[in-house]
Amino acid sequence: MAIHSGIETEEKGWQDYANCLGVDPDLFFPERGASTREAKEVCRGCVVRDDCLEYALQNGEKFGIWGGMSERERRRIRRQRALARAAAAAQAGSVTA
Ligand code: SF4
Repeated sequence: MAIHSGIETEEKGWQDYANCLGVDPDLFFPERGASTREAKEVCRGCVVRDDCLEYALQNGEKFGIWGGMSERERRRIRRQRALARAAAAAQAGSVTA
């Protein structure tokens, strides 16, 4: 995202289409217990929401709102994916065994 960027490339990346361009970065890094509602409202209409979320998941971003999701929500997705991978691996193992 614009706020979450720091990734400088010549080509336009998903960050260039972020809805949060120009929005106060503090909104996306709320204090513990503070509302995430406003940040999520900005994300709701963002066309690169999936890219943003995937970037955060791939890079293990621990803080802030990415792709409209909080740290806790992203942790849940990572856990679900890990379980799915484990199940797929177990399935593959039982097929070849
Ligand atoms: S999903 Fe939210 S945080 Fe990510 S780029 Fe869009 S507006 Fe910014």
